[in-house]
Amino acid sequence: MKRPARAGVTPRRAFAEAPDCAPMPENRASKLRLDLNENLLGCAPKVRAALRRLSAEAIATYPEKKSAIARLAPSFGVREDEMLVAGGIDEALRLIADVFIERGRTVLLVDPTFPMYRFYAEQRDATIRALRYDSKMRFPLRPILVELHARPSVLFLANPNNPTGSLLGMPALGKILNAAPRTLVVVDEAYFEFSGVTIVAWIHRRRNLVVTRTFSKASGLAGLRIGCMFAHREIAKLLKRAQAPFPVGAAALAAAEASLQDRAFVRRTVREIQNGKRILEHGLAGLGVRVFPSAANFVLADFGAHGSAIAAALGRRGILIRDQTSSFGRPGFVRITAGTAAQMRKFLRALEPLL
Ligand SMILES: *Cc1c(COP(=O)(O)O)cnc(C)c1O
Repeated sequence: MKRPARAGVTPRRAFAEAPDCAPMPENRASKLRLDLNENLLGCAPKVRAALRRLSAEAIATYPEKKSAIARLAPSFGVREDEMLVAGGIDEALRLIADVFIERGRTVLLVDPTFPMYRFYAEQRDATIRALRYDSKMRFPLRPILVELHARPSVLFLANPNNPTGSLLGMPALGKILNAAPRTLVVVDEAYFEFSGVTIVAWIHRRRNLVVTRTFSKASGLAGLRIGCMFAHREIAKLLKRAQAPFPVGAAALAAAEASLQDRAFVRRTVREIQNGKRILEHGLAGLGVRVFPSAANFVLADFGAHGSAIAAALGRRGILIRDQTSSFGRPGFVRITAGTAAQMRKFLRALEPLL
């Protein structure tokens, strides 16, 4: 008898050949979560109140994103037609990739950086050019400017960068944008509230720039999944064409609005986290650990050859940090989220005997 043919579904090659995704850490609820750069002080009381007020009608109705955007846009100094909302920056990046990346195009990155840029580029069979930070963790500005001559389709930059924490100033960003007339430059400002540096105002004029922001980090809404994109209205129009009609839930939209009405919470927690970050940096340096200057709510540190083992040992004690071995190709580097002074002291006390 003839054997039946194997089930005949055929994924795109990028998925047939890709390794399975490494799972994100779970069961984190009761632990000291210094691993994913969330706001360790939670979210604004006004957000909790807005979520409690959500009516059955609001929950049973498709969310109205256009009017939500009209209310949110002024807080960012942009017009309605220059803004999109998405299910976090992760989904914003997918949308950008859908519109600008395909086989035969080139995507320019720095390395290490936020892994989702490469993830979406690989899924679309793009050619990837990745330029490394040097050992002093300096941004490869000159090599980027050279690579831009070849007119890559997209350049992704996280500013500040994750996991290095390094920040590009306006003069460097200006040079990059001027050298990239045919390249969409995506400036991911996930940590803007900590760095205080933004290029958003440039989207009114520049037609090669998209800026992304999130409510996951300083605003403490990571669990709700909401972020936004800002771009010249011609670019925004293209992105809107590719977007599903209801990309963000009503709860997330209501929470984002409430969060923008409670900026005092964000200001207060950012101040507290900056203080925690100083304690963390000084504490690590005092223990002889190399720390890199960071403009975000985390620091990159080099724990040396036993870095992964130390991170694992901390994990067993209920303290989570992010092992960055895979980002740097050698063990040692770890990323640690800054929290309150008390949380940082707890971390440093647990770390000292392990070094
Ligand atoms: C955390 C992070 C994100 C993810 O943001 P979401 O809005 O939660 O998807 C995006 N970019 C960078 C650089 C990040 O560190």
